[in-house]
Amino acid sequence: MSQLAKATSLANFGRVQFTDVVKNYGKIRAVNGTTLSIDPGQLVTLLGPSGCGKTTTLRMIAGLELPTAGRIEIGDTDVSNLPATYRNVAMVFQSYALFPHMSVLDNVSYGLRMTKVPKADAYVRAEQTLGLVGLEGYGSRLPSELSGGQQQRVAVARAVVLQPEVLLLDEPLSNLDAKLRRQVREEIRALQQRLQVTTIYVTHDQEEAMAVSDRIIVMEKGEVAQDGTPQDLYEHPRSRFIASFIGEANLVPCSIERAANGQCHAEVNGVHVAVPQTELRGEATLVIRPEATTLSEGDGAGAIPATVSSVAYLGDRVYYGLSSPLGQLFHIEHTSSVRHPKSSDVVIRFDAAKLRVVK
Ligand code: ATP
Repeated sequence: MSQLAKATSLANFGRVQFTDVVKNYGKIRAVNGTTLSIDPGQLVTLLGPSGCGKTTTLRMIAGLELPTAGRIEIGDTDVSNLPATYRNVAMVFQSYALFPHMSVLDNVSYGLRMTKVPKADAYVRAEQTLGLVGLEGYGSRLPSELSGGQQQRVAVARAVVLQPEVLLLDEPLSNLDAKLRRQVREEIRALQQRLQVTTIYVTHDQEEAMAVSDRIIVMEKGEVAQDGTPQDLYEHPRSRFIASFIGEANLVPCSIERAANGQCHAEVNGVHVAVPQTELRGEATLVIRPEATTLSEGDGAGAIPATVSSVAYLGDRVYYGLSSPLGQLFHIEHTSSVRHPKSSDVVIRFDAAKLRVVK
């Protein structure tokens, strides 16, 4: 553990705090006055579209970039202007950045040997860490003799062997195929929980973020758009951008009105849809998640007529495209059979409690 880490109180070890942090590259503002705090031991994902400032934020935590303005704290220490080598953080890069001419064991023990840990101790700790990532017995191989998934695990081992205060992962799964991504993300999550190390994970894949995170910080144009648990973000999106970025949803332009009985409803093309209480009035967006709708045949009171315009059978679920007075909608049913063929007439019912409205 470094002197820096020793100076941090145990309760705050692994805490990360940004206060009004700005990062400019020349005239480009990559991060625009971000304030965020990450609790010790959590796995927090920075999620957002390309260019929103995720990697720049991560690199500022690592000390690979220094902020133009604002304050960054790790533990109890203001690290705003502290270079990377003096920070107790470790980063796993997208490309893994393993030393190709060094064995796996030399790669994993490298950081320890650089900090003057005796060679024998460094090798013992590296062997133990290879065991943690399921690579015992692989120490003498070269990185080129490993699969992509195994190289990624070596990169993780090389970072966690240092027992960093904060572990940073920059799109760690982007070089793996879809099936392996799912497996490796579960391994990373399990390792993080076992080690209880504060971990900050960058991805642009919302499903990956939902699967691994205690909390997700969604960024848009250099700012925090919303910050919460995966469930918060999915169930209570604060904006159209979040509703569209997290999970799947129909986003229908509407007008919000309050009826005489105090209930709120969304008006779309003359159709009134009951929605949960909201302070919003006037122009808004109705967010319809697939699980908020049910489809049936025939007509029914309070239901919306629609015609099935497309059917996509995916084995465990069926995607329906629907032409309706609310416009073109999609609906997903988790079933292994097509209940409503193309061109059939159906009715749509909404579970009002599951509908949301956003600006
Ligand atoms: P991606 O998912 O594509 O990696 P990101 O969300 O990680 O994107 P950043 O890499 O942080 O985004 O970039 C944020 C903005 O800053 C972008 O407009 C980018 O072009 C710009 N930027 C990043 N690094 C530099 C640099 N070294 N010099 C100039 N501009 C940069």
